Amino acid sequence: MGKRKSRSSKSMAAPKKAPKLDTLFTCPFCGYPDAVECRINLKDRIAKASCRICSDTYFTSAHALTAPVDVYSDWIDACELANEGVRRCRPRLVEV
Ligand SMILES: [Zn+2]
Repeated sequence: MGKRKSRSSKSMAAPKKAPKLDTLFTCPFCGYPDAVECRINLKDRIAKASCRICSDTYFTSAHALTAPVDVYSDWIDACELANEGVRRCRPRLVEV
């Protein structure tokens, strides 16, 4: 007669760990994943995101509630604005 190891009746569900805040993001310029690191300097209220691959850097203002992902999305927004600016500028070369 074999002893059957019964699994403990304790819940098998692993306790959910608090998600670690993402500080690494995909670079909007070179597209390299996890290449952008965001750092927030609350003392100077400055947040910096920089890519370790293409060394592109973005600075923005930070406050107590600024999360790295906010810095990153600010950067993306700034990139999009810049792109739009370029597109909008072209037709303007021709004076109306
Ligand atoms: Zn890059």
